[in-house]
Amino acid sequence: MKTRANFPLQAFNSLNVPAVTAEIFLPSTVKELSEITTDKALRSYILGEGTNTLFCQAKAPTIIKPRLMGIEVTENDEYFQVSAACGENWHNLVLFCISHAIYGLENLALIPGSVGAAPVQNIGAYGIEVSDFIERVTWYDFAEKKLVDFSNAACQFGYRNSIFKQALNGKGIITHVHFLLPKAWQPVDSYQGLNTIISPVTPQAIMAKVIQLRQTKLPDPKLLPNAGSFFKNPLVTEDFFHALQQQYPKIPYYRQQSGEIKLAAGWLIEQAGLKGFRDGGVGVHENQALVIINYDSKHGQDIVALSVYIQEKIMAKFNLHLIPEVRFIGADGELSHTNRGCQ
Ligand SMILES: Cc1cc2nc3c(=O)[nH]c(=O)nc-3n(C[C@H](O)[C@H](O)[C@H](O)COP(=O)(O)OP(=O)(O)OC[C@H]3O[C@@H](n4cnc5c(N)ncnc54)[C@H](O)[C@@H]3O)c2cc1C
Repeated sequence: MKTRANFPLQAFNSLNVPAVTAEIFLPSTVKELSEITTDKALRSYILGEGTNTLFCQAKAPTIIKPRLMGIEVTENDEYFQVSAACGENWHNLVLFCISHAIYGLENLALIPGSVGAAPVQNIGAYGIEVSDFIERVTWYDFAEKKLVDFSNAACQFGYRNSIFKQALNGKGIITHVHFLLPKAWQPVDSYQGLNTIISPVTPQAIMAKVIQLRQTKLPDPKLLPNAGSFFKNPLVTEDFFHALQQQYPKIPYYRQQSGEIKLAAGWLIEQAGLKGFRDGGVGVHENQALVIINYDSKHGQDIVALSVYIQEKIMAKFNLHLIPEVRFIGADGELSHTNRGCQ
């Protein structure tokens, strides 16, 4: 297995933050993965493509960056089953499926990152979450040193959430994701922006529109380093929402099946006057208030400080706590919500 010492990670996170790890493992097979000692694996950070990762300090923990590759397809009368290894690029998988007339993932086109990270925060966009199509996830358990399969239900998927982000965080690696895509394709085109597609609504047309919308709306991390939506959209109770709506009649909201109300974090940040706000080398994007840009800072801590400032402003104005979607990584591992004042 390939390993490297004193490995720079700036090119491996989309916020373009410099950080160095003393040791990085690059396993290409499950066998190579099993060669990493349990003790070391349990103290490592699993890095996909780093598009949802903020290195907060100059030093990063030991990194495992799995490079398992491959996509396999089987089918029956009703479904395609697509199994993809964790090191595959997510958008390439979407393109692969469309080019093989396997439809369903087109709304999730152009989401950056790896296949292995997709179930972790249950990636979603344009009316779909990846969990809608996941049959099961294969997981390598560091302590047991064996592969375990998690059914869709066992993955405990929620809004930007799963068991891999909670109870299993840091305890193993997703090696493969198995998708079940029905042959009877149903378009999901009611989402704002997609409902303007001119008939016939095809998977290719949806994908083209999603790509066009994303390219227009979201800053390209290669030009303006960012990690996409920095915060999750807050979920609030009906009562809390009504009180807020009295004060802000134009507040956008999305009713959830759970009975909760989802608010738009970007709108809240904009109302707090922070759209386009700059603080030294970091700032809030001029058009997308939910996106933090690293213009030219060399310190992850500057991004941490800006995110805390945004949280404070939102708390003061709306009495709401914004929860970061981005993962905060310190020298010794992931930082908890209350332990982010790293130096
Ligand atoms: C411009 C931009 C737009 C974005 N748009 C969206 C969007 O529309 N919807 C959305 O949901 N997200 C979006 N994101 C966030 C990001 O694309 C997703 O979170 C993506 O899944 C991250 O993949 P990654 O490989 O880069 O993960 P990383 O940042 O490398 O890791 C993220 C988390 O997953 C864990 N992880 C990674 N690989 C594995 C594995 N094999 N096994 C176990 N754990 C693993 C890591 O330890 C970490 O906790 C966007 C990001 C950017 C930069």
